Amino acid sequence: MTAPRDVPQTSAQDVLAAVGNTPLIRLRRASEETGCTILGKAEFLNPGLSVKDRAALSIVRDAEKRGLIRPGGTIVEGTAGNTGIGLALVAAVRGYRTVIVIPETQSAEKKETLRLAGARLVEVPAVPFANPNNYVHAARRLAERLAETEEAGAFFADQFDNVANRRAHIEGTGPEIVAQTGGAVDGFVCAAGTGGTLAGVAEALRAAKPGVTIALSDPEGSALHSLYSTGTLKAEGSSITEGIGQGRVTKNLEGFAPDLSFRIPDTEALEIVFRLMREEGLSLGGSSGINVAGAIRLARALGPGHTIVTILCDGAARYASKLFNPAFLTERGLPVPDWLGAPAGDLP
Ligand code: PMP
Repeated sequence: MTAPRDVPQTSAQDVLAAVGNTPLIRLRRASEETGCTILGKAEFLNPGLSVKDRAALSIVRDAEKRGLIRPGGTIVEGTAGNTGIGLALVAAVRGYRTVIVIPETQSAEKKETLRLAGARLVEVPAVPFANPNNYVHAARRLAERLAETEEAGAFFADQFDNVANRRAHIEGTGPEIVAQTGGAVDGFVCAAGTGGTLAGVAEALRAAKPGVTIALSDPEGSALHSLYSTGTLKAEGSSITEGIGQGRVTKNLEGFAPDLSFRIPDTEALEIVFRLMREEGLSLGGSSGINVAGAIRLARALGPGHTIVTILCDGAARYASKLFNPAFLTERGLPVPDWLGAPAGDLP
């Protein structure tokens, strides 16, 4: 019997072998409207259902290689959720425990997923990085305490300043995009949380295709758009999107600058999230809306005929109680699509 074309001929060694190698999906409406080919890298198809599985796996592999983590040891991380979910999966397979420090404002769905994945969860108030009680500092201190008290030690994953994160995209996501487009990629755009995806993919694409245009798609409340357009870090406004936006130059962003930068309001991103659901069957979270909004703006900047790639970071299910909750949206003055929560009415 012959196997179907393109189906791997062997089974995966474990679930970690299923991280990466995600499809590139053509976004039909965005492509038609701009005259470009706009492609979304389907990172929501990773085993932990987000782009952050790649960083989690790379960080743990790097720590193992450098002898920073011992069997049975505890991985500690400060995360908006997705990195924690990725780390919990990697930890389960590789024999570690996970403790996650998360700002309490993050979605209930992500917290629940972390608990289901076996992570111990520490919720802290959402305060800026300059405050010593910020979740990243709280996680670092907790890791230091656990390193003394846990028999097998503890390791602080440090996704913002650990460049094993960016390397996952220099060695994985970027080369995949080059291969999947046959090298014919003219532009890449995405938002930055740690900056690992943006800076990592940018490095790989610039090496493979000099002249490629790299753009940042920044939510309101982030200081990066201001940095890259005026030279000064300055945050204004706020966003209901999670996992993206940054107030400083993380180690993963060091040495990187985009060619273009866009500041995307939530209203623009949400309209795109809802359209991707209704028109493309793509069920996505808010950061994917910011990214596709950026891809449309980049398409307009470059003009018709170009191929533009962006990241579809995670799925809508992680935000059902927020982005897809009419009461939540109405309270914040955000538009509610008419089909969302529509009653069955007079169906026969
Ligand atoms: N989207 C979502 C939903 C995320 O959780 C994250 C990571 N925090 C990102 C985008 C941004 O990825 P990166 O950390 O690589 O900048």
